[in-house]
Amino acid sequence: MLAQPQAHGGYAFCTNLFGSRVKFVRSNRRGALGSLHLRRHTGSASYCRERNYHIVVRTTPTEQTLRVCTFQVAFFELLMKGDQCTNLQELTRVVAGHAIYPDDKMLDKRKAFAEHVAAFHNDAQIPLRADYEGIVLMSAHQPNLFPYSGVVRKAVLVHAVAEQLRNVIGCPVAELFCFADQDFAEERWFREAQLPSVRSRNGTLSLRLSVAPTYNNKIMRAVPKPDNNEVEKIKSEIQRWTVESRDSIMKHSKHLGLQPPDVDLCTREVFDVIDRANERSTNAADFNAFFFAYLIQECGYETAFARFSQCQQVFKDEIAFILEHFDQYAKLMVDSQKNPVTKIATPIWYHCPCNGKADVKVVRSPDHKLVATCRACNTTVEFKGGMRQALEQMLPNVSLRAESMLIAFSGIGITFYVGGKGGAEYLSRASRIAKELGMQFPVVSTWRPRDIYGGVGQLDAILELLRVRSEYYLMRNAVTCDAAIIGNELDLILADIDQAISALDNLKRAIATRKAAGFKEQIAFVIDTQNDLKTRFERNKIARDSSIVTHTKNTVGMIPSIIDHAINVGMRSTASQWSTALEENIHFDEDVPLKTNTSMDALFDTIKQLCTSDLFE
Ligand SMILES: [Zn+2]
Repeated sequence: MLAQPQAHGGYAFCTNLFGSRVKFVRSNRRGALGSLHLRRHTGSASYCRERNYHIVVRTTPTEQTLRVCTFQVAFFELLMKGDQCTNLQELTRVVAGHAIYPDDKMLDKRKAFAEHVAAFHNDAQIPLRADYEGIVLMSAHQPNLFPYSGVVRKAVLVHAVAEQLRNVIGCPVAELFCFADQDFAEERWFREAQLPSVRSRNGTLSLRLSVAPTYNNKIMRAVPKPDNNEVEKIKSEIQRWTVESRDSIMKHSKHLGLQPPDVDLCTREVFDVIDRANERSTNAADFNAFFFAYLIQECGYETAFARFSQCQQVFKDEIAFILEHFDQYAKLMVDSQKNPVTKIATPIWYHCPCNGKADVKVVRSPDHKLVATCRACNTTVEFKGGMRQALEQMLPNVSLRAESMLIAFSGIGITFYVGGKGGAEYLSRASRIAKELGMQFPVVSTWRPRDIYGGVGQLDAILELLRVRSEYYLMRNAVTCDAAIIGNELDLILADIDQAISALDNLKRAIATRKAAGFKEQIAFVIDTQNDLKTRFERNKIARDSSIVTHTKNTVGMIPSIIDHAINVGMRSTASQWSTALEENIHFDEDVPLKTNTSMDALFDTIKQLCTSDLFE
């Protein structure tokens, strides 16, 4: 333990070297800039989605003076149907007003599409009860490993709108969720999921599937499913994370004089879902997709699932139409880009027999043909005989690029689509292109609030911060605990120790250069003194605590894998709390508080009050 370092001034320590007293004094760093925080103000989302930002500049580690200035940033966005909706009620009204009812041609296409839905449900052994005679609501995502909560929330919003519509529309409402398993296998989240863990690197525990580099540029469904050892290893990492977090919470809450919560985490249900996905799947994309589908099934939804790698062949007419109008499509793409682009990619991929993704080129003369070049094996294949003929030869190994996906899905009439983070720009472009090409486009909405809840990872992080403050006497107890201030103070202490060690390094060099009698012993003495300094001032412990404090904000603010929700809140309870928030017409930008319905909630409420609010922003 460091001997009473002072929080509000410099501190000094002395040591004795060869009879002379050497004094190291902390330099006065007052006035240095502390940290810069961006705070999103969520209360005023308006028609054109202007967003306000508060910039908070904090000066000096301990002064509490804040200067706040506000400015507005207007984002240029192409408006889509659904853009202006701020809550479920408004959204339902817009969706109901744009319902797409099927004609005979569309019904036939839905029938063909339904075969691919049935194939997924058959493989996953999930009962299928979808009725495609009415309207269809949809969302989609890559089959990511234990995906973050935002992916599950997409299915929840689809379900919430569907439930509302069932009350106002006298026809069946189908809920569809598609997995983009034709995407690149090297995508990070296809093989990595994160949990909040303040003592881990960057404050997060990464769960990983190994995907060999040989799968780069190949489609996700080409990757074999994890072997049993890998699955068991991931499960034991999750188990260890729950135990370590719980033990740390118990220890620190007692030490801080807080009521330790009754933490009884059950991993069995999540592990059962993982085991079931492992048992039924034959490749990594399905392993991930099945895990997700089982969670949705557990929520009691009758969502219909399909794989993009299979179902998109149904849209051959729509794809042919887009390819025949490729010049117009390309011009619209160029016009709607924020940054100038020189070349617009043909809106489809061809899946090479090696499972690589192949870029496709439209060649017009002498006759129409499609030329595909694989990114994985570099093979080029030509498909001749006119556009439709060429496309026909490629089937079923064709998938759509992001912009053209929803345009082609007009073939089965999608009334409503839930997009995701990062999708707004391409969906806006797609909406505009669809309009110009005279193709139907759904109402589009997103819902990506932050969930505020005290799971074991979040509680552990906050308690660690409070523990460091208390152990090092870094802030007065009456002041709310600020991670930035505590981090700065620890860094200053570390800098002082390192400065002393570095001064001794200089001394070592000087002794070595002089080579006077007994210099080796003198150098050994200096090294001993350095080690003694490190031990006496607990340099390694302070460094560890400093990194814990640095991680706190990331650990508390990260958006973790849905596993975090499933273990702390429960999957069904999470979905039901989200649904309730939607039914109460929560603003789509507003944070959603979730309850674990254990005594962890009370501890979370207590320790939240002890910390500055920017820890939760
Ligand atoms: Zn290939």
